[in-house]
Formats: sequence, structure tokens, C-alpha cells
Amino acid sequence: MKNWGVVILLVLLAACAGPPSRRPPARPSTPAEQPDDPRKLRQCRADLSAMGVKYEILPDRRFAGGCSATGSVKLVAIGIPVTNLGALKCGVALPFSQWVREAVQQAARAWLDGYVTKMESFGTYSCRPVNGQIGNRLSEHGRANAVDISAFQLSDGRRITVKEGWSGSDPNVRAFLRAVHRSACRRFGIVLGPDANAFHRDHFHFDMGKGPYCR
Ligand SMILES: [Zn+2]
Repeated sequence: MKNWGVVILLVLLAACAGPPSRRPPARPSTPAEQPDDPRKLRQCRADLSAMGVKYEILPDRRFAGGCSATGSVKLVAIGIPVTNLGALKCGVALPFSQWVREAVQQAARAWLDGYVTKMESFGTYSCRPVNGQIGNRLSEHGRANAVDISAFQLSDGRRITVKEGWSGSDPNVRAFLRAVHRSACRRFGIVLGPDANAFHRDHFHFDMGKGPYCR
């Protein structure tokens, strides 16, 4: 009976969503109450440890407005510093760590002849609607299921931002940003960048909501 309540709520929320405009098509979002599979969670943490990633296990937390941070970790050391990382569900933290260590460095070698020494994030957990627009459904950020990446610091001192670089004058920077975006699409359920909509002109959004959606 509890599940019916969730279904009815989702139908009501969908009815309030309004025209789809330029945001990605509405997808059924995971009900906040859905518990994390303890076996998958154990495996996920073991995979993080096996990669040599250092992290803290965070206690499950639930907040007002349907927001929650369960099955989450705080990434402490993944190889290079990434600013502004807070609670992140392990299911995002794992592909994110792999993306940072493998895809980002490969693309930096291929296109920028160097390596990335630091990355900048706009954050992880945040209790807000999709695109921060009142009336939209809860963002995956409200479940600690998403991370936003805005800039890459290079070994030669350059700082590549999504905002300046995506459509900037340097073809190698444009290729680097497209390469890391493309590789993220193979790892995350939803990937949004500057081509998705104006809300993402200055960062990449990755989440493990229902996908795949890559734009
Ligand atoms: Zn985001």
C-alpha cells in the first residue's frame, strides 16, 4: 500500500510539471524512501577501497522536503583534489572517482599534453528542485546522487573552465571538454553540459538517476 502512495504522489507531481520546454524529458525519479541495497552498498565501498580511494562513510540522513543523503560517502582522497565535494551516494562516488582518475587524465594527455592537478566542483548534495526552478521535481542533488564539475587545473598552470572552454577559441580545449563529457556518458545515468540548456552553460552535471541521457 505504501508503494501506491508513492505512485499516486508521482502522478500528482507529474501533473504539475507543466510543458517540457528545454529541460530533458521527465523521467520517473526514484522515490526518496527507496532503501539502499545493503549488498550493493558494501560492494560499492569495497570497489572504492580497491581503487585506493580514501573516503568517510556518512550516516544516513533525511531532511525536510523529501531530501536525503543515504548510502553516502565523503570522498577524502581520490588522487587529485576536487573542491566542494560533500555527501555523495556511493553509486555516484565510484564512477566519479574512476572518471577523474582515468577518463579525465587520458583526455588531458591526449588533447592538452599534460595532466589535471586539481578539479573544481559546484557541489554534490543540495536540497533543491531540478535546475533550481520552483515547481520542478526534486533534483538528484537532493538525494546526494549528483555532482557538478566546473573547472580543471592543468599541470602547466592553465585553468580550463566549462563556461569559457566549451565554445572557446582553443580547439584542443574544446576537444578535451567534449572527450571528458563523452566518457562521463558511459559512466553516469544522466550527463548534462552546456549543450543541454542554459542552466548548464558553466558546468557538467552527472547523476545516477534514471537514464541514459547524455547532452
Ligand atoms: Zn547538477
